Amino acid sequence: MTQEPVVAISAIEHHVYCPRQCALIHGDGVWADNAHTVRGTRAHRRVDSGKHRRERGKHVMRAIPLWSESLGLSGRADAVEIDGEEVCPVEYKSGVPHGRAADLQLCAQAMCLEEMLGVEISEGYVWYGGLRRRTRVIFDPRLRQLVESVVDAIRTQLLEGTLPSAPNDARCKQCQLRSHCLPELTSAPNKVSRYLSREVFRSGT
Ligand code: SF4
Repeated sequence: MTQEPVVAISAIEHHVYCPRQCALIHGDGVWADNAHTVRGTRAHRRVDSGKHRRERGKHVMRAIPLWSESLGLSGRADAVEIDGEEVCPVEYKSGVPHGRAADLQLCAQAMCLEEMLGVEISEGYVWYGGLRRRTRVIFDPRLRQLVESVVDAIRTQLLEGTLPSAPNDARCKQCQLRSHCLPELTSAPNKVSRYLSREVFRSGT
């Protein structure tokens, strides 16, 4: 019997950005940094410290491990603010919002926390370095449903081991995996081109 893979919460953002990027990172184990990811790592230094403290009367826990048996998810929350019975996840992004990717990631964190702590969480925040402020995210049924759909799609992709073709659009210019993915070659609906690009990538030539 095939064991269902546990999906990393970080895969949600990768999948929403580009399913091929998600498959390369979480299926094939490919990783590369670019200016965006380096900036993100720097911005996360304080969060990654794991130091908990009290701020504005709330407990702020950093770098909290998360999991959900029911969703088959695992990952980490940048920060979780706890005020009495109120629990609120906070995600830190170095740039500016790109669609709803960060909202989905945050909602997945909240769904894990709900299962772990037996609480209901109605909202959280994404702090954007590019905006110098945080934005509120409401965890409504539609967003929760979207999280479940994306996680299902990622799990199916991981189980099947498929590598989606490259969209080769504006996303690729910002993508950390551009030099590994070779979107110009792999976007062609031509199996020979796709085979060639994968072999070139594997051999590192
Ligand atoms: S280079 Fe383009 S197609 Fe390839 S993983 Fe990145 S965004 Fe996706």
